[in-house]
Amino acid sequence: MGEQWMFYFDPNRCLGCQACSVACKVRHGRDPDADEWRTVHHLRRGEYPDFEDVPISMSCMHCHDAPCEKVCPPNAIEKREEDGIVTVDRDRCIGCHYCGWACPYGAPTYGDDGLMSKCNLCLGEGPGGGAGQPERKTPEEGGSTPACVDNCVGEALKAGPQSEVMAEASRAAAERFENGVYDGRVIVEPVREDDEADALADGDGWLDG
Ligand code: SF4
Ligand code: SF4
Ligand code: SF4
Repeated sequence: MGEQWMFYFDPNRCLGCQACSVACKVRHGRDPDADEWRTVHHLRRGEYPDFEDVPISMSCMHCHDAPCEKVCPPNAIEKREEDGIVTVDRDRCIGCHYCGWACPYGAPTYGDDGLMSKCNLCLGEGPGGGAGQPERKTPEEGGSTPACVDNCVGEALKAGPQSEVMAEASRAAAERFENGVYDGRVIVEPVREDDEADALADGDGWLDG
């Protein structure tokens, strides 16, 4: 397999503003009422009244082991050799929902047509836009930036080939990834204590570790 593309997420920078999920719908011409390919969840850290809200932006993780691919009866789901992006060929999909039951992240959505669609890492536009496309290119190679990354107000989201994303992650996040946190499917910065988060908010670059 070529190099796996990955998402990176920093909850310390996420504002919970939903700009990522809105941008995804706009890029892919999705109905505002349709289930979202990218969603922002909220975790509570601590106990009331001393707690903080931690926003978590999530989409399909393009899993290395892709549980959805393994259960799809007509082999409509493909974990691509060239970049690891998981696509769905909606001409093959029979709308059985097996993929939705197998997915640990609730990423597959089903529209009025009953067919599955989900994040395709902006490989083409619209449901099924990822199937049959050529290899994903980085912006440096002339490709577009994924809409959610491009429109993230807090610069909390990144995406790209694993080595590039790892090079921009903090040492702590890289170690978590190497230790298998989130099954090695996404690189996530640890939530920092308040004083560290304040320092991060005042700075203009990514922390080194
Ligand atoms: S749909 Fe779910 S199981 Fe399939 S690659 Fe995406 S996150 Fe993984
Ligand atoms: S809903 Fe479609 S993509 Fe999902 S498992 Fe069934 S046939 Fe495959
Ligand atoms: S990479 Fe593209 S398709 Fe995937 S969540 Fe982001 S905007 Fe949506």
